[in-house]
Amino acid sequence: MAAYRDALCRKCRFEGEKLFLKGDRCNTDKCGLERRKYAPGLHGQKRRKLSDYGLQLREKQKIRRIYGVMERQFKRYFHFAERMKGVAGSNLLQLLERRLDNVVFRSGFASNRRQSRQFVNHGHFRVNGRKVSIPSYLVCAGDIIEPTEAGKNSALIQESIAKTEHRGFPTWIELDAKNLKGKILHLPGREEIALPVQEQLVVELYSR
Ligand code: SF4
Repeated sequence: MAAYRDALCRKCRFEGEKLFLKGDRCNTDKCGLERRKYAPGLHGQKRRKLSDYGLQLREKQKIRRIYGVMERQFKRYFHFAERMKGVAGSNLLQLLERRLDNVVFRSGFASNRRQSRQFVNHGHFRVNGRKVSIPSYLVCAGDIIEPTEAGKNSALIQESIAKTEHRGFPTWIELDAKNLKGKILHLPGREEIALPVQEQLVVELYSR
């Protein structure tokens, strides 16, 4: 499976804003962007002036980096979002939020999406009682997400659940922390996806 292996903080530094890719570390003074507030590389400290196209491109890259999705798959999500009812940009974000790796992260079972993807890849999660090891699996309203027996014993999952309260919780997922079960109450609307992104710019980019 293809995946980005770049240093995560470089991605934030390149975009010039926090993408919160490392979980709790992002809220400490160890954050790479807090330490070096300029883009990586030899010319990183030069100011960049972006064209309209550049702004659209950066916004697309930012969203892709947040969810850890490759270009081809991202484009597929976009074409799917376009064919759905409603606003294409909001549909796109909703599809990305519905990915199982994202839901495992949002439910508090993992401290960041990279970790949740690994948990899913390693078969540590079940959806409605069936083991699912595909991070891009799209959850539906009413689905129950829970760790397998091996997952329940994982110290990392336990540790992550213990910290969930500090992280804030999405309104569209209900977590039963005692029984380690997450339930999708409904699919998220745009207002429930707390991301500082302008998805409209992605729509404009792909409409060129
Ligand atoms: Fe980005 Fe988190 Fe690294 Fe800060 S610590 S630069 S927010 S990944």
